[in-house]
Amino acid sequence: MSALAQQYNAINLAQGFPNFEIDEALQNALIEAASSDAHQYAPMAGNLTLREEIARLVSTYYLRSIATPQVLITAGATQAIYTAITALIKADEEVLILDPSYDCYEAPILLVGAKAKRISLAQDFKPDWELIEESVGPKTKMLIINNPHNPSGTIWDAKDFRELENLMRAHPELILLSDEVYEFITYEPHQSIHQYPSIRDRAIIVSSFGKSFHITGWKIGYLVCNETWMKEIHKVHQFLVFSVNSVAQHALALYLKETDLNQVKILYKQKRDLFREGMKKSKFGLLPAQGSYFQVASIAEITDISDYDFCIHLTKNYGVAAIPLSVFNANGQDQGLIRFCYAKTDQTLETAIERLCKI
Ligand code: PMP
Repeated sequence: MSALAQQYNAINLAQGFPNFEIDEALQNALIEAASSDAHQYAPMAGNLTLREEIARLVSTYYLRSIATPQVLITAGATQAIYTAITALIKADEEVLILDPSYDCYEAPILLVGAKAKRISLAQDFKPDWELIEESVGPKTKMLIINNPHNPSGTIWDAKDFRELENLMRAHPELILLSDEVYEFITYEPHQSIHQYPSIRDRAIIVSSFGKSFHITGWKIGYLVCNETWMKEIHKVHQFLVFSVNSVAQHALALYLKETDLNQVKILYKQKRDLFREGMKKSKFGLLPAQGSYFQVASIAEITDISDYDFCIHLTKNYGVAAIPLSVFNANGQDQGLIRFCYAKTDQTLETAIERLCKI
């Protein structure tokens, strides 16, 4: 969709990346890092100060005490997820993925010769716990969850966590891979797996500075897990990347000391509200947007063509690119829903709204 957007000079609300400037303090931290001696290989697990800062962050926001050996700095959440799956899953085992789902989960599962079992989320994009429970078989080794959720923008409530705790209790061998890359972009209280003592030691929790600090191009993320699994994860990490960009790590270590992550949601709430308010005048049906920087909209009132064809039509004829939700489903299920990314300047959003209201 990004290529098509470029070809037709359309506003790209398809791919999830911000188009506004990063915090000046982060720019300054990068300049300081570039002027330091941080230009050679970082330690394999990551810059120690950065890992200490992440441990402090987990303690501040989630009241969980972790040690630095439980933290691994990765080349984005994508590498964290790839590394965790390939280190811990063996051929013929099964991993559960909840659809619609982000596209980086399935490939590493298939690469190790395991099976990806894709289970649909309920109509409201919440986990269908009965279906998940039924899907756990003797070969099921891992469950992947993503909260706040891409593409739907929903966040879990207390009941979902209770159900997850029950599931994990009933299946003591199950590993949880919790993709929380949008943990700081939520408009209702976000609960992290870090806050659940009965599950967190059996979880690999993944996050991304790309999302939290609008630096998707830096490709820096991290994972947190117990030290036994970390040993296995290091074995893959060492030969996949060895270590991650040293200057960026140094800059983030400096920046984390001074930044307030609560500001992230304030920034995005203003953008979400601007987009939703403007789109009220359109024929798109807006679904709730509780977290992440995505807004899902129904096209039922506009057309009965497929979500995919509609997104192409929208890009070519109205100059706004969006993503059809069907591409996040293994079975290609089309519910007449498309995803807009509102991580854009107010001016970009206003122009996009103007175009979308013409439909
Ligand atoms: N998980 C989800 C749910 C995502 O939306 C993304 C990025 N779009 C990633 C993982 C990958 O993050 P990164 O860019 O840090 O690799």
